[in-house]
Amino acid sequence: MYSIAIDGPAGAGKSTIAKKIAKQMGFVYVDTGAMSRAMALFFIRQGIDGHDRETIASLCPSIRVSLSYDEEGRQQVFLNGENVTPYIRDEEVGQMASVTSAIPEVRAALLDLQRNMALTSDILMDGRDIGTHVLPDASLKIYLTASPSVRAKRRYDELCEKGVSCDLAQIEQDIIKRDEQDMGREIAPLRQAEDAVLLDSSDMTIEEVVEAVLEEFHKKY
Ligand code: C5P
Repeated sequence: MYSIAIDGPAGAGKSTIAKKIAKQMGFVYVDTGAMSRAMALFFIRQGIDGHDRETIASLCPSIRVSLSYDEEGRQQVFLNGENVTPYIRDEEVGQMASVTSAIPEVRAALLDLQRNMALTSDILMDGRDIGTHVLPDASLKIYLTASPSVRAKRRYDELCEKGVSCDLAQIEQDIIKRDEQDMGREIAPLRQAEDAVLLDSSDMTIEEVVEAVLEEFHKKY
């Protein structure tokens, strides 16, 4: 079995790149951010403060996150049996996920599911701690980043295209805040694994990044 881990900060283009590579290589794409977001959605719906560690930890055993794939191979994420895929993309959910993902019980609730997926298929998994914690023996590890201003501009363009009105400066601030939270937490912080290949996509097109990852893979296998 092969596994490719792609980690990096918010808005670096991990999921766009990962989907393309997984499709080309016939690997299963696992978006672990979607799993963290499903947990966060549960806490938002319950009206829980993301910093209330005790309550969140006590609720974790009652939360079940699972994944399936539709006919086109797109990942669907389920929260206690409900398909919540359409409800997890808001920035509010992303911010809550960033806060609650710092809680050990929240991470533990997802870890086995993530690791087990790598036992049964060739996978490409993206997130924050895949190369450092979830799959320390991944076949290939990539750390994909870009400058905060480039990431903010990409997110801004994406939202404008969808017709969502937004503010570029606010998006950049949100991105920086999320990076700080994800890099500064005690448990499984976002960082480049020692054996990861660093790709800075600030001045690269999507196709160039895809090519670079494929090249790294084929150098090894
Ligand atoms: O990648 P995405 O923006 O969907 O992730 C949302 C949040 O979930 C991240 O900011 C991070 O705090 C958390 N996360 C994590 N570990 C992962 C994937 C996501 O802690 N492997």
